[in-house]
Amino acid sequence: MATATKAYAAQTNKSPMEPWNFDRREPNPHDVQFDILFCGVCHSDLHQVRDEWFPGMFPMVPGHEIVGRVTSVGNHVKKYKVGDLVGVGCMVDSCRTCENCQDGLEQYCINGSSQTYNSVEQDKKTPTYGGYSNIMVCHEDFVLSISEKLDLAAVAPLLCAGITTYSPMRHWKVGKGHKVAVLGLGGLGHMAVKFAVSFGAEVTMLSTSPSKQADAERLGAHHFVLTSDKEQLAAVRNSFHFIIDTVSAPHDYNTYLGLLKTNGIQICVGVPPSPIELYGFSLLGNRRSIAGSAIGGIPETQEMLDYCAEHNIVSDIELIDIKDINTAYERMLKGDVRYRFVIDMATL
Ligand code: NAP
Ligand code: ZN
Ligand code: ZN
Repeated sequence: MATATKAYAAQTNKSPMEPWNFDRREPNPHDVQFDILFCGVCHSDLHQVRDEWFPGMFPMVPGHEIVGRVTSVGNHVKKYKVGDLVGVGCMVDSCRTCENCQDGLEQYCINGSSQTYNSVEQDKKTPTYGGYSNIMVCHEDFVLSISEKLDLAAVAPLLCAGITTYSPMRHWKVGKGHKVAVLGLGGLGHMAVKFAVSFGAEVTMLSTSPSKQADAERLGAHHFVLTSDKEQLAAVRNSFHFIIDTVSAPHDYNTYLGLLKTNGIQICVGVPPSPIELYGFSLLGNRRSIAGSAIGGIPETQEMLDYCAEHNIVSDIELIDIKDINTAYERMLKGDVRYRFVIDMATL
């Protein structure tokens, strides 16, 4: 029997988030069903419910930073049992056969991974609904194991903000001896600071918000640059091995490329709604590169969660009631987030 599920959804790209009910599928033999306890609020949720990237599928139940406790498992499930703490991030399935899936890079599935919401299952027709809801059903291979050691609400954002910043830093082997700048202190940015510091890099926060300086330092950043101050920006030209660009709104990439050392790389994880304007000279000088990175594969997401449990790393959160989600979106748009909203699903 399908399971009646309570949620918050946007009915159209112009609608606010409102209560909505739907059915989760009856768990298949390989599925895990769990009660969602907390769900983080990612800027990608906002981009998608407002159709800022591409036409979305409505009604849309966003949410891809999902944690909870297992209530039932299909009879072939091996990894999880009732009572386990688990999580689901941005993907619920992929083809599993292409070379990227075989390499544990399901986020780059050549046949298209199934996103947790605003997407379809691998049958390419059944819509997926995300974590602003009380129940989740997911194939065990896309369910992550969560440590009992950490504050569960603060773990939720690791499932997207965490892995999205951890993955590129591991790929480019960020560590001791590297000067790393993090651009934008929001959900992704604050996790980028924590990981870069933890990996031993010298970290500079590049922010438009003077009020975030003390927090940047508390998070471990060694330096703070107010990007609206031309002198402060000029002082860090040719300075960084890497810039982790987490900005959600249009901004001038050429300016930030100029802050890179020779062979420096600007790693873009933020996805502003409009295309980038890039001058060739911004790349020619100092042989700079611009790169991108999407979330992380399932094995690396588990590795990141285990790393966080070992090193006591979680997100700094503001726990909200689900009926305040529309206000949270407006605050996120103004950069007024410290540093991730997490929905307490007990309020649904
Ligand atoms: P967020 O919490 O809203 O943080 C974005 C930060 O960017 C803001 O706090 C602000 O920091 C800065 N910012 C905002 N507008 C700006 C502007 N006009 N100019 C300069 N800086 C500005 O967002 P998030 O959840 O971290 O997500 C960030 C971006 O990453 C979004 O586009 C999201 O869709 C994307 N994303 C990508 C992936 C991936 O797989 N690559 C995964 C998750 C999210 P300051 O106040 O410090 O300036
Ligand atoms: Zn996200
Ligand atoms: Zn694949």
